[in-house]
Amino acid sequence: MDKIKLQKELQEQAEKICRENNMIDFPNIHLKYNRRGHTNLNTGHISIPIWAIQEGENFITYYLIHEVTHWILSQSHTLEFKRKETEILNRHNLEPIYSKVYVKMLLKDNQIVWDKKTSKIYNRT
Ligand SMILES: [Zn+2]
Repeated sequence: MDKIKLQKELQEQAEKICRENNMIDFPNIHLKYNRRGHTNLNTGHISIPIWAIQEGENFITYYLIHEVTHWILSQSHTLEFKRKETEILNRHNLEPIYSKVYVKMLLKDNQIVWDKKTSKIYNRT
């Protein structure tokens, strides 16, 4: 997958999610060689780790939604955060199975589309 092309796609996805949540300010999405993603509420920069690409389309969508939810709510991992994240994931036809703040599994149409247990990349990070 072309990094620049994917970054552009994630940017468009992020702006769509923001618009659907009545946000007028959009964050700037960057794919980075970081261990974890990050949302900077002051600069409006969201970083998504490059390794997440290898986890597949559904996982990277989840990762983007996780970070954009921080942007929308200006919040850390509260109950409200989890509710909003789930709402946005559901709108993308994804059902999260949580383990604490992150998901351990993602379902789509009742099928497992991402599982932490069987992911070599995720467990290496
Ligand atoms: Zn987070």
